[in-house]
Amino acid sequence: MTSAVVVGSGPNGLAAALTLATAGVSVRVIEAAGSPGGGTRSAELTLPGLLHDECSAFHPLAVDTPFSRAAGLDAHGLEWCWPEIQYAHPLESGDGASAWRSATDTAADLGRDGPAWQAVFGELADRLDRISEDLFEPMLSLPHHPLDLALFGSLSALPASLLARRWRGPRAQAHGVHPVYAYAHVPSGWPGDATALVEAQIERFAPGFGERVLARHVRDVAAMSSYNANYVGGDIVTGANTPRQLVARPRAALDPYWLGTGLLYLCSAATPPGGGAHGMCGYNAAHSALRRLTRRG
Ligand SMILES: Cc1cc2nc3c(=O)[nH]c(=O)nc-3n(C[C@H](O)[C@H](O)[C@H](O)COP(=O)(O)OP(=O)(O)OC[C@H]3O[C@@H](n4cnc5c(N)ncnc54)[C@H](O)[C@@H]3O)c2cc1C
Repeated sequence: MTSAVVVGSGPNGLAAALTLATAGVSVRVIEAAGSPGGGTRSAELTLPGLLHDECSAFHPLAVDTPFSRAAGLDAHGLEWCWPEIQYAHPLESGDGASAWRSATDTAADLGRDGPAWQAVFGELADRLDRISEDLFEPMLSLPHHPLDLALFGSLSALPASLLARRWRGPRAQAHGVHPVYAYAHVPSGWPGDATALVEAQIERFAPGFGERVLARHVRDVAAMSSYNANYVGGDIVTGANTPRQLVARPRAALDPYWLGTGLLYLCSAATPPGGGAHGMCGYNAAHSALRRLTRRG
């Protein structure tokens, strides 16, 4: 029987392991930390019984992918929780905007800016199945749905400031969540503590927030690096999200998962489609390995 060793039990390592095992490979997963899960672990970090996500907290990328469809995790008890409002953004003016689960509901909430929202995101939402099929694969492969991908590319390539000109100031929505979790992007290896800055920013838009905090758990860059050896210098997405890295991650190659020698593969978020708790890097890497095994006979 063919056997494989997967190093790391994050979503990508586990997706690779599951994909290989389903194909009949005997798989061993090696994990340095005391518990499995990598960037998807949860733990009681503040008060007893209060469960916090340690890293990833929102998992829309995992809901409908080739991996999630193949794995059928709902048959094993996976249930997704959907907030009524997906996310909200407060503005300096005191107004804000909320994203509902459907582009139509979001547009309805945006008043006179609704039609502009619907025109951009309504069409993308209708094509999401086809767009995501290509987005979850290496960019240097032939797209299955070139027209849908081109539409997505033409809109996402616009500078945010230009796209934002299509909206003129949506109205506010209030939304509260417990436990609260926030992080700030800081330079690689930064030695400081950004807690006060993060809380001050929330306080600006939600006065009284600070008084309601019962307990805190803080990880600075050094703690993040030692919590998970995959987060080098505190980098939470395992490699830069530069245009070059979006197209050729981690290097320009038709098979970016194969390390170019023997049966060694990279299956982490350092490979396409990159950071996020979706497991697609592991799923694609496992398929790359299975293809090579089949060719070797
Ligand atoms: C603070 C934070 C917030 C995030 N928020 C989101 C979010 O909201 N939504 C989202 O989709 N994504 C989010 N992400 C990104 C997402 O968590 C990662 O992209 C994803 O977990 C990467 O999966 P992975 O399997 O490649 O690696 P990881 O999840 O990092 O797992 C790697 C595993 O390998 C182990 N390991 C490393 N080196 C070794 C070794 N030498 N030997 C043995 N084991 C080893 C580690 O202990 C770890 O368990 C966030 C990440 C962070 C850190």
